Amino acid sequence: VIHDIAVVGAGPAGLIAAGRAREVFRTGFDRSPSILVLDGNSGPGRKLLLTGGGRCNLTNLQSDVQHLASRYGREGRALISPFSRFSPHDCIELFSRLGLETKVEAESRVFPCDDSAASVLAALLSYCEGPEVEFRYGETIAGIESAEPDGRPRTYHLESRRGHRFEARTLIMATGGFARPDTGSDGSGFELLTSLGHRINRPDAMLVPLAVREKAVTSLMGVSLQDAGIRVLLSPPSSDHGSAKSGGLRPADERVLEKRRGKLLFTHFGLSGPAILNLSGRIGELEQEYAAERSRGYRLIIEINPSPDLGEEETDRLIRDRCAANPKKRLRNALEDLFPSRYSPVRDDAVAAILEGRAGELTREDRRILVRAAKGIRLTFARRMSPEDAIVARGGVPIDQVDFRRMESKTNPGLYIIGDMLDINRPSGGYSLQLCWASGWVAGEAAVQFLRG
Ligand SMILES: Cc1cc2nc3c(=O)[nH]c(=O)nc-3n(C[C@H](O)[C@H](O)[C@H](O)COP(=O)(O)OP(=O)(O)OC[C@H]3O[C@@H](n4cnc5c(N)ncnc54)[C@H](O)[C@@H]3O)c2cc1C
Repeated sequence: VIHDIAVVGAGPAGLIAAGRAREVFRTGFDRSPSILVLDGNSGPGRKLLLTGGGRCNLTNLQSDVQHLASRYGREGRALISPFSRFSPHDCIELFSRLGLETKVEAESRVFPCDDSAASVLAALLSYCEGPEVEFRYGETIAGIESAEPDGRPRTYHLESRRGHRFEARTLIMATGGFARPDTGSDGSGFELLTSLGHRINRPDAMLVPLAVREKAVTSLMGVSLQDAGIRVLLSPPSSDHGSAKSGGLRPADERVLEKRRGKLLFTHFGLSGPAILNLSGRIGELEQEYAAERSRGYRLIIEINPSPDLGEEETDRLIRDRCAANPKKRLRNALEDLFPSRYSPVRDDAVAAILEGRAGELTREDRRILVRAAKGIRLTFARRMSPEDAIVARGGVPIDQVDFRRMESKTNPGLYIIGDMLDINRPSGGYSLQLCWASGWVAGEAAVQFLRG
């Protein structure tokens, strides 16, 4: 049999493409389509089930398409067309039609009301349900050829590792990116596209957690800060941070390279959470920009400010008031809210020593040190975690090889490339899935249009 459409990859992008193709095919042909969905895993959507910590942040509710597209960085312009066809509002509407209600949380992140990624997958599968769509699991595609026999329209021939062969008039590639190969998206789809003449950009993990040098950070594992100030500093070798000598003072020649704000999470190796993931790409650039300095002993310091709205003067006043009210108390008790004891493992030695003193005996100089120290927990950047730990990995099909009005390959007519396969910067916050939905929706429609001729 020659199928109308073969979809390789039963992740979010492939599933929505199959569902949309089935839906639009029904109007316009006097027969049913034959859509084949192939996946190497034993079931669909393995990565989708992990999204948003199992809650699935399925889109980001931005109303302005230009603004939405701009969130994807330089390549974002290409997305204006697919997002005009399938916006975050359309996403919410589609899922509502499929029986899944959603809610909007902080930073416009959209989640299912029941906080379950499994419900999102179930809704998607219901979208594809019907005799027109056949699912074949355990079929990792290892070879693709496109043949154009004399006088007959071109078809795509697929062969799986098991030796099964499939043939289709159009092909939707949705095999995912390079991140988390354990979920099935192991990059093998890119080899298939290479065999069809596509160029692939080298993977480079993008949204990754950060490891720090201070081993003591382990004791903060699980602590999260809802709204922290984050600064990245270039610190010269002389600033012996962590030793009593430095007195917790930041040397004047330390340079602020980057400032961010947002939610972060301490992990057993360092830092994670949305603000850190979004910073990780920039840190990668800074690593390269300052490679020469780092080889001379400079360090990148990540400074975390748990109360970014509290200015230096207010902090100073707060410390003075607390000391005046509790002169007999140890400073660490009198100032527990400014210097929570849970941070003590990563605290500067000099600051820790001052906090052991009595509130009534705090000198002006030590108070100055405390005011500075209250502004930040300082950790030394060690490395970005590997692509295997990434939420989203950079790399994939360069955007200039795809016509985004149809998500079609510019060199292979009837071939569509969607979702994580595209080399597009995707920030954390539901943007990655929004790209899957929009590109899959457009590709599903375009494949049917291609079949109509
Ligand atoms: C831990 C984690 C949390 C995340 N949280 C969010 C979030 O909350 N919000 C958000 O927007 N994004 C999130 N993401 C990103 C999001 O999961 C991806 O953008 C999305 O899953 C990509 O969908 P896809 O369909 O392109 O590819 P995938 O979901 O990777 O699916 C690809 C499918 O193709 C199959 N496949 C691969 N190669 C072959 C082959 N050769 N033959 C046959 N089948 C093949 C795989 O088995 C897989 O099922 C998260 C990612 C991770 C890892």
